[in-house]
Amino acid sequence: MNNFAPVFAQTLPLVDVRHVRHVYGKGSGPGLTVLDDVNLTLHDNEIVGLLGRSGSGKSTLLRSIAGLVQPSEGSISFPRPQGQTTVSMVFQSFALFPWLTVLQNVEVGLEAKRVPPEERRRRALAAIDLIGLDGFESAYPKELSGGMRQRVGIARALVVDPDILLMDEPFSALDVLTAETLRTDLLDLWSEGRMPIKSILLVTHNIEEAVLMCDRILIFSSNPGRVVAEIRVDLPRPRNRQDPAFRAMVEDIYARMTARAAPGQPREGLFPDAGLGMALPRVSTNAMAGLIEALAAEPYNGTADLPQLADQTHYEVDELFPIAEVLQLFRFAELEGGDLRLLPAGRRFAAADVDARKQLFARHLLACVPLAAHIRRVLDDRASHHAPASRFIDEIQDFLDEVSATRTLNTVIQWGRYAEIFAYDENASLFSLDNPT
Ligand code: ADP
Ligand code: MG
Repeated sequence: MNNFAPVFAQTLPLVDVRHVRHVYGKGSGPGLTVLDDVNLTLHDNEIVGLLGRSGSGKSTLLRSIAGLVQPSEGSISFPRPQGQTTVSMVFQSFALFPWLTVLQNVEVGLEAKRVPPEERRRRALAAIDLIGLDGFESAYPKELSGGMRQRVGIARALVVDPDILLMDEPFSALDVLTAETLRTDLLDLWSEGRMPIKSILLVTHNIEEAVLMCDRILIFSSNPGRVVAEIRVDLPRPRNRQDPAFRAMVEDIYARMTARAAPGQPREGLFPDAGLGMALPRVSTNAMAGLIEALAAEPYNGTADLPQLADQTHYEVDELFPIAEVLQLFRFAELEGGDLRLLPAGRRFAAADVDARKQLFARHLLACVPLAAHIRRVLDDRASHHAPASRFIDEIQDFLDEVSATRTLNTVIQWGRYAEIFAYDENASLFSLDNPT
């Protein structure tokens, strides 16, 4: 920390994001607005969480702050006068060079800055030491566990001495225990002031992680992404997930994230009426049926508090969320104020036999998921009743990046097969109306 900076400089934010708007793919179609009028500031000595659902534009915002994406409108500035505020980023997928050792992977960041070799080595070793990787300096990424790889990712970000550490879902690719160890280690380093950084901006879709780690949480809405609420977390550290005040805060954030939009307002959520561009999560028909059954049965009889339901079904609340949202999309259930409530169609589904369930599912799939209806329409219209997957991938890539487009199509294939509204031949990548086998 720079003790000689004029006092006024400390009161200026480290970064100031104003009215940022970003639209992807303006070329041909209307484009996809992923960020709209986003405002945020980061100050010294705080960990700020950006909490939003998958696809809400969190990575886009982080990449904009890192200078990797140029937002379509608005400004991102670093208002401190002397010197430049520096930023570095930790990614979800560890993004290590497989042909470099741990030490070389950490040094890479400094090479770009033309730091002389000796200093490079010294600083890299210090970062490796700090993050608990000593002994692994000469190992290659493939020899490391996921947790160790992410430690390399963090060391590489820290070695350049950034003012701001941007972390994009840094723990979400790790198993539960490893993720928790890494969070705790990072928080210890932070509280002890051992990391040479001024502030952390942590992107997450995990509510408990946000409450565990952050001083401030910005709740991000979807479609387009926008900061809709700011919550200060004043719980003493180290925080305990079982603490009633901790639980209450998690519940409160749940309620806010599932709040029903005011009458007349467009409905908040993962699935606005986005037509073919609606990104779908990987949720299986088994998971949907399982949740409907659990909800219909005792003790819930149709309405459950989501965090409580998660506890009793041994799901992480963040795993349950996408399933609940898909039930809402299908109008089998409704999310409101942290509760999930079965709608009449959901009750009928719970009570129905296998065939009746499939028929009900098919009707709702065609009515609620535009891509499924579109595929079916194309197959009906074509004399051959065949269509290649590439045709639909092309169409949805007008709205979604490649990864989301593929995931979305795979989800619809799985749902469509269960509903028997079309068949899909994996080897030929071909949709058809042949009798599903
Ligand atoms: P998050 O990190 O919250 O999951 P992202 O910022 O990754 O959200 O993505 C927001 C939306 O923008 C998604 O619908 C995604 O498919 C889309 N998107 C992301 N990157 C690109 C890109 N390079 N081109 C087109 N669309 C993109
Ligand atoms: Mg992301």
